[in-house]
Amino acid sequence: MIFDTHTHIYLPEFEEDCNLVIERAKEAGVTIMMLPNVDVETISPLKKVLESNADCCVAAMGLHPTSVAEDYKARLDEIFRELENGEYKAVGEVGVDLYWDKTFRAEQLEVFAEQLRWAATKSLPVIIHNREAIDDTIAVLRQNPIERFVMHSFGGSPNDVKRVREVGDAYFGINGVATFKNARLEDTIKEIGLDRLVVETDAPYLSPVPYRGKRNEPAYIVNTVYKIAEVLSVSKEEVEKATFDNACRLFSL
Ligand SMILES: [Zn+2]
Repeated sequence: MIFDTHTHIYLPEFEEDCNLVIERAKEAGVTIMMLPNVDVETISPLKKVLESNADCCVAAMGLHPTSVAEDYKARLDEIFRELENGEYKAVGEVGVDLYWDKTFRAEQLEVFAEQLRWAATKSLPVIIHNREAIDDTIAVLRQNPIERFVMHSFGGSPNDVKRVREVGDAYFGINGVATFKNARLEDTIKEIGLDRLVVETDAPYLSPVPYRGKRNEPAYIVNTVYKIAEVLSVSKEEVEKATFDNACRLFSL
């Protein structure tokens, strides 16, 4: 049994064949998938997939950092209303992304902090997106402490793992990037260790080798599981069980 802790199968990329994608995921051993929200516009497609696949899908509600612009207050209000009314297992995905654009850095930090406070009030875990912003991410977490969180698509150094651990009970999401030749995530995976690792696809993005460059989907997660097993010199079954149990603990399932 595999838990895909981060997948966006409600996005337009899956509009045509979402049901087939879910079928293939189940055939590959993926029994549960976490769907993190991105923006106001994605709430409705996310809910549609969630409602018709309640046997294998759970969801998180949040405003993604790359969706933060001038009108962020109105967007945050709508996201908060949905979080209040829906059955969400986490706040996410939220965080800081300075890779694409630094224009709204101050607003991104404010939006991230606000959503961390929601999580603290509701005792929910948080799915954190960070790209080229590890210092900002840690600073905001330090000022707005939360119980548990996952650093999704984690690509940091072993030292970054240590720094993140200082600000809370941190889990680390590893995806197809670990299978890339130049990724060099081996030492990072070893530093995290089996008790705080979770696996994810981040579909439709970041397909693992041998699907690199193609649309990603949850069934491909097995290639990431194989890679982690190889790095930690344990069996594939051990990685599946540990990452599944970790994800259930993270999301209180
Ligand atoms: Zn994502």
